[in-house]
Amino acid sequence: MGEEISADVCVVGGGPAGLTLGLLLARTGVRVAVLERSPLLTREFWGEILQPGGLAVLGSLGVLDAARQRGGHELDRFTFTDRGRTVLDIDYRALDPPYNYLLSMPQRHLLAALLDAAREHEHFTYRDGFRVTELAEEDGRVRGVVARGPAGPVTVRARYVVGADGRFSLVRRLAGIPAGRRDVFDFDVLWLKLPAPEHTPPQARIFRGRGRPLLAYPSWPDRLQLGWTVPHGGYARLAAQGVDAVKARLAEAAPPYASLVDAAVTGLGDLSLLDVFAACAPQWTKPGLVLLGDSAHTHSPIGAQGINLAVQDAAVLHPMLVAALRTRDDGGLVGFERSRGADIARIMRIQAMQARGMTADGPVARFVRTRAARIMTRTPAFAKVTREIVYGSPAVRVASELFTAPRP
Ligand SMILES: Cc1cc2nc3c(=O)[nH]c(=O)nc-3n(C[C@H](O)[C@H](O)[C@H](O)COP(=O)(O)OP(=O)(O)OC[C@H]3O[C@@H](n4cnc5c(N)ncnc54)[C@H](O)[C@@H]3O)c2cc1C
Repeated sequence: MGEEISADVCVVGGGPAGLTLGLLLARTGVRVAVLERSPLLTREFWGEILQPGGLAVLGSLGVLDAARQRGGHELDRFTFTDRGRTVLDIDYRALDPPYNYLLSMPQRHLLAALLDAAREHEHFTYRDGFRVTELAEEDGRVRGVVARGPAGPVTVRARYVVGADGRFSLVRRLAGIPAGRRDVFDFDVLWLKLPAPEHTPPQARIFRGRGRPLLAYPSWPDRLQLGWTVPHGGYARLAAQGVDAVKARLAEAAPPYASLVDAAVTGLGDLSLLDVFAACAPQWTKPGLVLLGDSAHTHSPIGAQGINLAVQDAAVLHPMLVAALRTRDDGGLVGFERSRGADIARIMRIQAMQARGMTADGPVARFVRTRAARIMTRTPAFAKVTREIVYGSPAVRVASELFTAPRP
């Protein structure tokens, strides 16, 4: 039979979406159980850059300072240069303070701060090392989950189950909801970390040399994170030629870092491939169930949106879920899917546009890119797109008036 836990809400997945929602609900006096399959908070090669919109939610929750005290770098600008010409330059310092920067921070710092804050509340239960394997359904309604833990199975009975289990969500699949995968990007990303050269600028930069575009930013504490875009689905062919061939192509794409790459990459195991795709599930709710963050919608890492959208999702869902618990009526949750779905669709369109502008090849594309960017960056439309990238939806706020427990 195994252990049984009873909760108002069972959250599957202790990533940025799941833990932010867990903390919001615990502060509201809701009994919440978070089940996380990993026994550790370590998430290597996972989202590290936070935009001001996500920072504002974490600031309102009072966890941003605690996360930052564990270590992170403030970045001033996001730039895109094509053969030395600046195509795009977003100066974050020109935004209104206090969130006038990008934050590069290991995801475990954020997760640890969220978890520490949530654990202050007696209504909060966190079980790590517990992999959810089944949904418990009765009368056409999801009423809990079954998970496997270190000491055997556990059943969580809950009024609502929230699937916050990431881009390959099992909860979503068990609920019979398709991922809505769209292969709109013609690249994957190969990640690697190098020792940061002295005087690395505090910027997230995409640059194109003779090879394919490359993302570079300082990664805490003293690393340079590189994300090299390789043809979608084409890395296996390159890897089959061996590590030296991969290094040669990387050096072509990133001449300033060629010697660092040469010294730091000794085998293909030093590189981590991310299959880049966008996905948006056609349905985010079912009776007793809600999908949140990457499990509902997955984004390209270029543009650093995933964590921000995940924590903002949690802030938007929180009051709706509290209302559904109080009124015993799921109706409002459909509003979550509708209002948040429109925000997500806008961001996805912008990301697809960014990707096309960045990867289009050839002299004509390059000419258009540099010319168009010079004109575009002065238009109101560009300012609007920049605001969306930086803040997401302006309507997102933390419903702190619902909190019953003081901030620890
Ligand atoms: C390589 C890479 C780089 C990225 N870079 C950025 C970036 O710079 N900025 C940015 O904003 N976004 C970035 N993203 C995206 C960002 O990491 C995600 O959008 C974000 O983490 C989504 O949060 P989430 O909580 O929805 O899902 P996740 O962070 O994926 O969390 C899901 C959690 O569920 C757990 N889980 C999964 N299955 C189960 C199960 N069956 N039972 C129990 N637990 C389970 C997982 O262990 C995980 O902890 C990047 C993503 C990748 C892969």
